[in-house]
Amino acid sequence: MTNKGIEQSLIEVRQRMGRAAALSHRDPKSIRLLAVSKTQPISAMEEAYRFGQRRFAENRVQEWLEKAPSLKNDCEWHLVGRLQTNKVKYLDHSVAMIHSLDRFSLLETLNARGEQCGIIWTTLVQVNIAQDPAKAGLTPEEVPDFLRIIGNYSQVKVKGLMTIGALEASSVETRGFFRQLRVLRDTLQAQKWSGVDLSELSMGMSDDFEMAIEEGATLVRVGRDIFGNRG
Ligand SMILES: *Cc1c(COP(=O)(O)O)cnc(C)c1O
Repeated sequence: MTNKGIEQSLIEVRQRMGRAAALSHRDPKSIRLLAVSKTQPISAMEEAYRFGQRRFAENRVQEWLEKAPSLKNDCEWHLVGRLQTNKVKYLDHSVAMIHSLDRFSLLETLNARGEQCGIIWTTLVQVNIAQDPAKAGLTPEEVPDFLRIIGNYSQVKVKGLMTIGALEASSVETRGFFRQLRVLRDTLQAQKWSGVDLSELSMGMSDDFEMAIEEGATLVRVGRDIFGNRG
């Protein structure tokens, strides 16, 4: 993996995505690859860019702020890590999607920043579907109440749900978590919420993105299988 090179890694990840889409009779164009570039140097990201990668995901605002200006401005930036409210003031139009909306205080802070700058944020609600105490995210039971109030916040739109699988889970358990997130989405989608559209499912990382695609992911977040192990 480490010596393979980013071009070859990207080719393989895209092939694996294509196979998983075919296996589950899904349109491959309905699934987007996010290159999780946290801890990776600009040079690695530029290499991925040269081989066609435009969507990047970072988990720390500080790191994103440092790197984003070095890349071409047709890159699409996703924030996937726990977002501290005191970092929201650094966010601007160049953030395409925030995957980790997981609490009221963040919703309020994003809304205030959005009003100040004339931005409507595209967000995903993070769900701790594995009920893993080490992970952020609302419990599945908390999601309906959260969606109910989104309509009161004009600068925040919800486009779907996101989850991170449990660290110690078997692949059977992980598939079960992905399926539960999709079922939760399908159940909630049947209801009408103001400011909420649940078409996106952000789930799946290097070890399990094929399963996530089979279970309905529209955004997969892949780091190590593109860039190699983080130092
Ligand atoms: C690091 C990270 C990923 C990517 O994980 P890999 O195992 O490197 O593919 C995906 N999602 C989130 C939220 C992450 O923090």
